[in-house]
Amino acid sequence: MSKLISATDVSKGYNVGPHKVGVLNGVNLNIYPSQHVAIMGVSGSGKSTLLHCLGGLESPDEGVINLFGRSFSLLSPLQRGQLRNRHIGFIYQFHHLLHEFTVRENVAMPLLIRGDNVASAGAQSLAILERVGLGHRTNHKPSELSGGERQRCAIARALVTNPSCIFADEPTGNLDSKSAENIYELMLEMTKEQGTSLIIVTHDHELAKRMDTVMELKNGTLKEIT
Ligand code: ADP
Ligand code: MG
Repeated sequence: MSKLISATDVSKGYNVGPHKVGVLNGVNLNIYPSQHVAIMGVSGSGKSTLLHCLGGLESPDEGVINLFGRSFSLLSPLQRGQLRNRHIGFIYQFHHLLHEFTVRENVAMPLLIRGDNVASAGAQSLAILERVGLGHRTNHKPSELSGGERQRCAIARALVTNPSCIFADEPTGNLDSKSAENIYELMLEMTKEQGTSLIIVTHDHELAKRMDTVMELKNGTLKEIT
């Protein structure tokens, strides 16, 4: 099967004052269509840095990130933005919804950005909000939702464009265990329905075990642990 995303010998560090702090040190990873991958690792091991590099939000210092065989580093900022908008969805620990917009407007945003008309974006947003169980909250502002409902909204926003791959960075880290389980279940169901790959950073071993592949980021490199 052809690879969706690949990282080859990816290294990255940050300059902190006069020092360079290494974070990723030769990471190799292939992600295939519909594959579900958990990435584990202690806090500070570089999981978020890796997701940002894989999603083209940050550039590695060394190595190559490919999406559909195209190297991110060879694309212009505009081309990168388009590729992300069409093929990648992000879900964060803190939902990052826009407070001044309604739930439905938040979900419509990526469709409007890619040029869909307002009526079509509105209809698609409504359909996916019903799918995630927020049909009765479409005109509410994010501040009026519970933590679990905000994450449902973030899932709807990430999946509404029907992306090839979702990156979820500790998406349940801020929820109680029951809500976390429900959100995890919903992400698994919906990515299976849509045939979307899912790369999820989680500290929960039980949840991680339900993915196809479990990897651990340690000392800057990634190893499969199942
Ligand atoms: P994780 O998500 O596994 O907790 P991160 O990728 O957020 O880890 O961070 C990895 C390391 O890189 C940490 O030591 C963190 O302090 C450092 N780091 C992350 N982003 C920056 C930045 N923009 N500038 C300097 N250091 C950073
Ligand atoms: Mg992190």
